[in-house]
Amino acid sequence: MSNLSRRRFLTTAGTSALAAVFLKGCLGNPPEPGGQTGSTPAAAPIALGPEMTPETTKIKLGYIPIVESAPLVVAFQKGFFAKYGMTEVEVSKQANWASARDNVVIGSGGGGIDGGQWQMPMPHLITEGIITSGNKVPMYVLAQLNTQGNGVAIARIHAGKGLHLDITNAADYIKGFPSSNGRKFKAAHTFPNVNQDFWIRYWFAAGGVDPDNDIDLLAVPPAETVQGMRNGTMDAFSTGDPWPYRILSEDIGHMAALTAQIWRFHPEEYLAIRADWVDKNPKATKALLKGLMEAQQWCDDPNNRPELISIVAGRNFFNIPAEILEPPFAGSYEMGDGQAAINDFKKGPLYWKDDIGSVSYPYKSHDLWFLVESMRWGFHPGYLKDIDSVKQIIDKVNREDLWREAATEAGFTADIPEGTSRGIETFFDGKTFDPNNPEAYLNSLTIKRI
Ligand code: CA
Repeated sequence: MSNLSRRRFLTTAGTSALAAVFLKGCLGNPPEPGGQTGSTPAAAPIALGPEMTPETTKIKLGYIPIVESAPLVVAFQKGFFAKYGMTEVEVSKQANWASARDNVVIGSGGGGIDGGQWQMPMPHLITEGIITSGNKVPMYVLAQLNTQGNGVAIARIHAGKGLHLDITNAADYIKGFPSSNGRKFKAAHTFPNVNQDFWIRYWFAAGGVDPDNDIDLLAVPPAETVQGMRNGTMDAFSTGDPWPYRILSEDIGHMAALTAQIWRFHPEEYLAIRADWVDKNPKATKALLKGLMEAQQWCDDPNNRPELISIVAGRNFFNIPAEILEPPFAGSYEMGDGQAAINDFKKGPLYWKDDIGSVSYPYKSHDLWFLVESMRWGFHPGYLKDIDSVKQIIDKVNREDLWREAATEAGFTADIPEGTSRGIETFFDGKTFDPNNPEAYLNSLTIKRI
């Protein structure tokens, strides 16, 4: 298929997805989450002895309506939280990451949230007061929600310039922007110093582009970024599913890379809760974790993905057309700009296990990468002084011990990792991160702030 006919085809596909929204709107009866034919029954409550009866049945968990939050929504909607006695969980949609941060500082008692979904290392930064104006709110990282499901999108005006996974040959085109266009190449993420910032920085720097000096990289709301990509004022977007699908189907641009290509089975977003809540309610915390683990297993069963899509797409949750979620949940990505499409379930979002370890278990070695990468870029220099100070923060925040206890009590013993490290990690450009020698990783990098 030629580029032009592919573009026409994709535009048509986008239009029919839009038409479907209007159709549902006219009929006034979009499918109720979990209520369609073929849905599996909700989990039944189990008998809980005194040692497992939670101290409270209530908690308020924030989420952002992107694929990362699917296991939280499913644990709520399919009765997995209730199965373990957490019958009054509230999953609360957050307007954006800054709102989630502000709401967890307030806490549910003040109308905020007790915890929920986070990019990394937000729990560590909130614990230390780094992104909360010095207000330290200790938090515990309890589980990873997912791997993959993110990527780097490029505006369509850059078609044919080689802005794909490896941009070594396109680095001069990007760096030459001030002379060719009178401004720097402009890229956006949704919140500074967390995942989407790290992924696009890694990708730029691997290709020889310094994200702090050669381009403008800033936090911009997604709708504004996409508008900018359409009208030629924004060039790149570090984003998550289902945006990659929309970038192609709405002819906004192409995908340079999926995060599954940059770092296969990389750590993505996490469940973290205020430490004061967890310390007061340890059994309730483990009940939540057991429900989450069951939801993650359910989410990874390909047979459940159609129902998963119908649940999260529903108006109570993401409130978007289900069609938009079908390709990413199948691991199916049109990349555009002459690149082959990707059709690999294992390159889409995964929730329980991947090919090298546990997705749900919060490896301390992954917390370490996020904080070492923060050091690489000179983030929070007053707090992240050296590897030892970073490890102290991780030991305070990461509660993999609670994950292990919950997994043991729930009988998921076969899926409990042996240690707190996943071992040496390998990136697409051949760099490696050995958690036992993070200094060697930092030394191996060419573009860095330390
Ligand atoms: Ca993400």
